Amino acid sequence: MNSLESRFLAGNERALARGISFLEGGDAAGQVLLRAVRARGGGAHIVGVTGSPGSGKSTLTDALIVTARAQDKKVAVLAVDPTSPYSGGAILGDRIRMMRHHQDVGVYIRSMATRGHLGGLAAATLQVTALLDAFGFDFIFIETVGVGQSEVDIVRVADTTLLTLTPGQGDGVQAFKAGIMEIADVFVINKADQPGSERLGREIKAALGLSPQQGGWRPPIRETVALEGSGVTELFETLTAHRAHLQATGDFTLLRQQRVRFEVASLLSERVRRRLLELEPRLIDAVLEGDVSADELVDTLLADYRVSA
Ligand code: GDP
Repeated sequence: MNSLESRFLAGNERALARGISFLEGGDAAGQVLLRAVRARGGGAHIVGVTGSPGSGKSTLTDALIVTARAQDKKVAVLAVDPTSPYSGGAILGDRIRMMRHHQDVGVYIRSMATRGHLGGLAAATLQVTALLDAFGFDFIFIETVGVGQSEVDIVRVADTTLLTLTPGQGDGVQAFKAGIMEIADVFVINKADQPGSERLGREIKAALGLSPQQGGWRPPIRETVALEGSGVTELFETLTAHRAHLQATGDFTLLRQQRVRFEVASLLSERVRRRLLELEPRLIDAVLEGDVSADELVDTLLADYRVSA
């Protein structure tokens, strides 16, 4: 056992931070640590928090931290921003509210960067999440900052996904268009202090009525004023109820497997993507000239890949 691993196992937060940096930066020591401690995971409830910028995800996460801490639960927050090449302070700078928990040893807040990671954002996020799980956090909130496909992918593998919407901004309608409705396990109408939340609630219900119910869970709609903490206790209880549901149906285990599948698939597709970028022009010409079919070229590449990977 190396010293990073033993410090990690002793609950040293610096060792955790170092392990995360290794994973982000593509340093092999990160993979070594994760492999060594991974089997300890499985206790955390992984909650994805998504929604448009400004809908209150950060404020809501902060309020959920307060609720979780009141129950003595340990909480990690991972802020993921695929548009930002910077790690550390850049994203957290906007999350000043959350920083008040910094002195609390039961709270760990971190933003993600993936400069060196071979599997891109998705694999890095999943590996860092697995490391946080192994460290012993009760809750891991994955908060997405952007609104692209990668966030949808990431939250899809959370145990519970919160979709944060706000009244009076056509937010509901936008979400329906983007097909993002399906990923929500819980709808949060945040900024319920502003007019239009009833109408938004009706819109969500109408849209839900059209979509098939998944696995016996009908996504509830919760109203919150994250800024004041109102509705947050109820939301927290809903999260816990969803986890109980997942455990009762066996989906909790399936989701763990699904995350590893997604991690492996992300790593694989990134390697293939890199290999394709290096593809020699003569191979492309060979297809153009009818010397080989595109399908045969794929066979050749895969055979070659097996040797070189
Ligand atoms: P994010 O970009 O989704 O993380 O959103 P933030 O948490 O940064 O919130 C965006 C803005 O909305 C901030 O100015 C918050 O203070 C404000 N805000 C958050 N929750 C509420 C709420 O429940 N009511 C009102 N009126 N404002 C809120």
